[in-house]
Amino acid sequence: MSNPVFTDTHAHLYLEEFDADRDQAVSRALEAGVKYIFLPNIDSKSIGLMQDAVCRWPQVCFPMMGLHPTSVKANFIEEITTVKQYLADKNYHFCGVGEIGIDLYWDRTYEKEQEEAFNLQLDLALGHGLPVVIHTRNSMEVTLEIMEGRNDKGLRGVFHCFSGDVAQAERAVKIGFYLGIGGVVTYKKSGLAAVVAAMPTETLLLETDAPFLPPVPYRGKRNESSYIPLIAAKIAEIKGVSLEEVARVTTDHAVKLFIEKP
Ligand SMILES: [Zn+2]
Repeated sequence: MSNPVFTDTHAHLYLEEFDADRDQAVSRALEAGVKYIFLPNIDSKSIGLMQDAVCRWPQVCFPMMGLHPTSVKANFIEEITTVKQYLADKNYHFCGVGEIGIDLYWDRTYEKEQEEAFNLQLDLALGHGLPVVIHTRNSMEVTLEIMEGRNDKGLRGVFHCFSGDVAQAERAVKIGFYLGIGGVVTYKKSGLAAVVAAMPTETLLLETDAPFLPPVPYRGKRNESSYIPLIAAKIAEIKGVSLEEVARVTTDHAVKLFIEKP
């Protein structure tokens, strides 16, 4: 049997945490069977760095375009204009709009602006026929309400680093979304294992959110894509299926969502 092929649907490989060993980090990921690494954008400052990674590993790294909610400030319309221009530019190819969403953990100053930026970018995703990658922090309920209220036809994507309960997971899946599962599922106190247990494997995608949120036993260290099999192993254990099954199903769905785009 061939080795399992894994996917990291969310890694910030272009951040400075990888400046010392980015090549090695990608080599380790490939050796671990992680064949696809999807790169969510943050804001106008990260685009060049992200594109550098994509040019270096075009078969492995797939970029997204979007404005992260924690980068939504007074000038957010300018930032959204940049996002719009890149999405329209035929010299670039983006596999999704992300990461976008609502973050009420760090700062609520721009809550209204965050909502507006989120809605504008959901419109862009629909216009370009692209999936979206949604970031929520202390905002699962409000984010779900915004999306259910829009009642968009054909909008698809993933709730990155899903942090809701089982009922919220069911609502996310109902509106056409996957649940992004990362290192948090290996943390003893997280409620994520209960969500993974309750939801079909077909609704889950694997992600690291590297360099953040490393799985056990790397807590407190830098996260990287080569740790994806640890997350997959935890999901396999919770669901009582094989590691190969988790790899196959999650990679199939990630490739369908971001690369094949029905
Ligand atoms: Zn992220």
